[in-house]
Amino acid sequence: MNEVERLNILNQYGILDTPHEEPFERIAALARLIFDAPIVLISLVDDKRQWFKSNIGLDVRETPREHAICNETICSDDVLVIADARHDIRTAKNPFVTGTPHVAFYAGAPLVTSEKARLGSLCLMDREPRHFDERQMAILQSLAALVMREMELRRQIDQDWLTGATSRMAFHGTLERLIERMTPPSIGLISFDIDHFKQINDRFGHLAGDRVLIEVVDVCRGVLRDGDVISRMGGEEFAVLLPGATPKSALAVAERLRQAIETSRRPEVDAPVTASFGVTMLEQSDLGLADPLRRADEALYRSKGNGRNQVTCSWAMPAEIRPGGMSRQSAL
Ligand code: GH3
Ligand code: MG
Ligand code: MG
Repeated sequence: MNEVERLNILNQYGILDTPHEEPFERIAALARLIFDAPIVLISLVDDKRQWFKSNIGLDVRETPREHAICNETICSDDVLVIADARHDIRTAKNPFVTGTPHVAFYAGAPLVTSEKARLGSLCLMDREPRHFDERQMAILQSLAALVMREMELRRQIDQDWLTGATSRMAFHGTLERLIERMTPPSIGLISFDIDHFKQINDRFGHLAGDRVLIEVVDVCRGVLRDGDVISRMGGEEFAVLLPGATPKSALAVAERLRQAIETSRRPEVDAPVTASFGVTMLEQSDLGLADPLRRADEALYRSKGNGRNQVTCSWAMPAEIRPGGMSRQSAL
């Protein structure tokens, strides 16, 4: 597997730069107890850095990749043991060995996904050299498998299994983090629902319907920017968060999504696929997602009522922010 594929898979876990989480802390603490090691890390090897999901005994969450001993660990499926790092050619000049935290012993088990991508390691470090036997290696490898299992579960909760879009639950969490970070928040919210989707299922089968859902998300991803978030809220209903959007840009994005869905070709469904949209902006008084989602959904229902395949916003729309070519759109 090449490095680009490996980094892609790592990103799909959506775990980088997230807070400490109990299951990972528990496994790291268990490793610390079992091996009596002062430093235990769950390290994920990113493009330019290693980032620590757990960092017992070390007060930084990331270090430059070039200094990561884990670079060696992810070259194989085996546990890497460096009994005396000060006298090992791979580590003797490493700044973590020559300087703080003065690592003298290292043992790391790679975190390997089902696609055989090695994302990082569960590793132990000590300031004294150590012997590490086969039995200890087997225990470390089992704990690494538990870390991987937790990462899988975490991903399943955060992602819709069919389309890979953000799950409804993770969508709420993302919104809360966005609101915390933005003062004042300027976030657009789009809600959309595929038109007459039941007929698509009835005519072409449920599997073809599933393919349509996957393709709709892919098409939307092609329109959206990096920081935007698309979520499958259920069935054939989706929501999109647009951080940093203005009312005008949020409407324009919704219109681009509408057009992209309408014009994309789908070999397995010999019928047009369209969707109806509702757009709102987050307001200072919105405490969570419930109120803005209700506003976006009300606008969406108006799109449905007015003939589907169109965009409606939740606010009365002055002429100057009405994007061109949206004659079918109506304001609430
Ligand atoms: P409208 O334009 O009013 O939204 O009509 P609709 O047919 O899209 O709406 P309705 O709510 O009547 O039907 C939604 C359909 O979506 C019914 C359900 O079987 C289908 N559906 C929900 N989840 C999935 C899924 O995961 N895969 C497939 N293939 N179909 C699904
Ligand atoms: Mg529908
Ligand atoms: Mg629906």
